[in-house]
Amino acid sequence: MSKITVGVLALQGAFYEHVQLLKKATADLAPEAGSPASQWEVIEVRTPQELERCDALVLPGGESTTMSLVAARSNILEPLRDFVKVHRKPAWGTCAGLILLAESANRTKKGGQDLIGGLDVRVNRNHFGRQAESFQAPLDLPFLGAAGQSDPFPAVFIRAPVVEKILPHQKGVQVDELQKDDTVVAPAKSPEGHAAQDAMADDVEVLATLPGRAAKLASEGRNIDADRETGDIIAVQQGNVFGTSFHPELTNDARIHAWWLRQVQSSLHRRREIEQN
Ligand code: GLN
Repeated sequence: MSKITVGVLALQGAFYEHVQLLKKATADLAPEAGSPASQWEVIEVRTPQELERCDALVLPGGESTTMSLVAARSNILEPLRDFVKVHRKPAWGTCAGLILLAESANRTKKGGQDLIGGLDVRVNRNHFGRQAESFQAPLDLPFLGAAGQSDPFPAVFIRAPVVEKILPHQKGVQVDELQKDDTVVAPAKSPEGHAAQDAMADDVEVLATLPGRAAKLASEGRNIDADRETGDIIAVQQGNVFGTSFHPELTNDARIHAWWLRQVQSSLHRRREIEQN
């Protein structure tokens, strides 16, 4: 079986922690999935050349403004957009990484940050408050299937974004979002990218919400958006792109990493089958 190379964007933030957990997850997966740990290679990604070697990519938590600035200076921003939106390889963003993968982010100065895009959502960057308001919540994550049913997942939220709105899918840039104040949107891809970006036509799926928090804020007299009553959206997936508001990399629980690697594996199988036919 050929190697699968998983990259972790290592420009800023909690990349080292992701590398460690990915390695743990590959070892955990090995016996059950007939996928020897040696099949996987986990690398840190700082350059377009390193990105090119990757079959899948994790974008860690940290500070999304800094990350996008360093990415632009390292000339890796456009290759990242190609990776996610043209080549449509699997990508997973945690916290700041989720912000970068959103097509729209608010509470951001115009021109203050570049997005990669890939998820038709609007995120609110610091929805869960400041650093001092960080918290951990036990989460029920149904998408983990049997692995998630044993124990709740210890989710860590640090200046975490929320998915505030699922946007209608658009071929190019999210034009309505462009009109809003304090909001940045991901740029459209080049014309040849458009056909590929249209494959994003997969719907955005909500994989997890944080219940109770919206109700708690409402009870404190804070303003609550009615459509958030079912809880804050904190994990979404659209085709090849997955995003979580929280930081699984800051725990030593590798269940989400293992789940995602399985997804990577099956999407690669599908891709290789298509290429062979
Ligand atoms: N809210 C932060 C940002 O805008 C992300 C915080 C995090 O990754 N812990 O980048």
